[in-house]
Parts: sequence; structure tokens; C-alpha cells
Amino acid sequence: MRPFGRQHPVRGFLNDPRGSRKLSFHFGIDISAPDGTPVHAVAPGRVFLESGRAVAVVGPTRTFGYWHVVPAAANGEFVARGDVLGHIAPRWGHVHFAERRAGRYRNPLRRGAIHPYADRTKPTIASIGFFRRGRPVAPERVSGKVELIVEAFDMPPRRVPPPWTGLPVTPALIRWRIKRGRRIVVPWQTAIDSRFEMLPPDRIHEVYAPGTRQNHPNRAGRYRFFLRRAWRTSQVADGAYRVEVAQLVSPGAALGYLALHHRKPEQAPPAAWRGMTERSSRGYWSTPIAQLRDRARHELAAEAIAHRTGMPLELAELELMARGTARLIDTAKRDGAELRVPLVGWRP
Ligand SMILES: [Zn+2]
Repeated sequence: MRPFGRQHPVRGFLNDPRGSRKLSFHFGIDISAPDGTPVHAVAPGRVFLESGRAVAVVGPTRTFGYWHVVPAAANGEFVARGDVLGHIAPRWGHVHFAERRAGRYRNPLRRGAIHPYADRTKPTIASIGFFRRGRPVAPERVSGKVELIVEAFDMPPRRVPPPWTGLPVTPALIRWRIKRGRRIVVPWQTAIDSRFEMLPPDRIHEVYAPGTRQNHPNRAGRYRFFLRRAWRTSQVADGAYRVEVAQLVSPGAALGYLALHHRKPEQAPPAAWRGMTERSSRGYWSTPIAQLRDRARHELAAEAIAHRTGMPLELAELELMARGTARLIDTAKRDGAELRVPLVGWRP
């Protein structure tokens, strides 16, 4: 859409949840624009009218789909890059844009794909919690088999017009791990990674936990991600653990962690733990993430630096304390090694 060479507001992203009763992964991106806006081809190819409201342009290696568009091109016609394919259909207010290659949907916003595109928003980890059969389990009383769920969201990088203004979208990447002291009990795991491809449709209920819903006009969606659908805590020793959830892919890193105490029912939680958790407005236990964020950031920064420099972790932490977390994070960024770079290297 015009203007070319400028970033347009995107209000829906790849793998966002779609549907009400039956969830599915969103297979493209939703780009906001007024009804009637001309839609131009991003690449040349042959036109296939998939329906009266969808145009596909098939190129040698990739197919691009433009949905909610009243076609202006004819079936079978060859179009050049920039040709008008149609106009945004009445009442749709957006183009659903999808890219398919070798039978799989790709993220059209991945690096090197449609551009310019920059995302400087900071994702939010709203809560991390334990559940059993959908009911919250207090983190200081975790035992047996539990579900581990994080609620997180991001905001579109550009303001989206009403009635979709200010509504959340899913973060492109969520990773998590569990530690006991310095020991890593569960190494970095990926809860969702939308950076490159659409997730296999049959994974929908492994990724999204019940309670997840998509955005509706003027009504915010809610994104609950399973970290573990059934974590058998009987397989770990009693004691204090920490779940860390990190979103370090965009310039704004989001970190949160939840301290948990796995214990026999008769054991009281350590005194120092009292007051560390609270019941959130969502009706379940969550961490006061905002208070812990600085500490989590500090520790992850130390680990990133230790990893990058080969410095022992203890030294990196001392170094950080001496020089200040913010400055060292800046240094790491300036050196061209954003925190996400070494962290990604830890993928098990
Ligand atoms: Zn869409």
C-alpha cells in the first residue's frame, strides 16, 4: 500500500491466536488501512483469485496472499511488482498478508523480508503461574504435577487506528528456564517462536493455554502460553527454584521470574519468601514481576557477559555491580553483541 518505503501499522502478527471456540494460529499479518485503499503486489507473479475477497500472486518460489481485498486483477493474469491487485474490501479495514514458501507460511516481517519494519516496543511478561486442572497453585506450595503458564503480550510498533488502537499482540519469542541457585535444572526452552514460520497447526493447544483469546474491536485479547503442560515436580528435589522467562528478541528486553518452592505439604515456606507472591487480578498467583525485573535483568546480563567474554559468572556479576547494570548492558550492545546474541547461543 502507499506510501511505499514507509512502515504501516500492523495490528495482527503471525501465530497470534485466532478464532473463538476453536483456536488456530494466525497465518499472516494484518496491516491496517482504510477500506478502499489500493493494494499493490510486493512481488511479480501470476494471479489466482482464491475467492471474491482474496488474491494470491504465485511467483517462482513464493506465493503471496492478500486477503479482504476486492480484486482488480484478473485470474491468470501476470502482474509486476507494484501493480494494483485490488482494494481493501468494505468494513475490513486491513489487509491480511501472507507469504508461503514450500507449503509453509513464513513470517513476512522476518529480517530481510518486507521492509522497512522496526519494532521498538517492549514486550510485557504479565504473570507467571502454576496451575493444576486450571486452578492456581501458590508458588510456595508447588507439588506433584503442575501446569506452568506465562501470560505475556507485546504492543504493535506503530499506533493502529480504532477500533483496534492499543490492543496487545503476541511477543515473537518467549523462552524460559528453571534454576536452582546457580544450577540450571531446565535449560532454555522455547514457548513460542514466531520469528520465522507459522507453527504447525496441531501444536495450537501445546502453545496456548485455556483462557487465551484474540483481540476484538475495542476489546483486548489475552495470551496465555504453556511453558509446561505437565511438569512433574516429583522428579526434582524439594527446595527453592526459580522460573525465568525472557523475551530478548527486540530492543526492549522483557524479563520476569517466579520463585517457586517445591516442598512436602507439611513444610513451611522459608520466611524470606513470604510476601514475594500475590494473587493477581486475573485470579491466580503471579510474581510481582516489576519489582524483580531489575534483579532478573542484572543476572541475565551477567550471564550474557560471562558467556560472551568467557569471564566466570561470579566475576561478571561483580563487574556488573561495580559498573552498574545499565552501563554494562549498553556496553554489550555497543560492542555489537546485544544480550540476545549470547543467550540465543544457549539454546539446548
Ligand atoms: Zn489476518
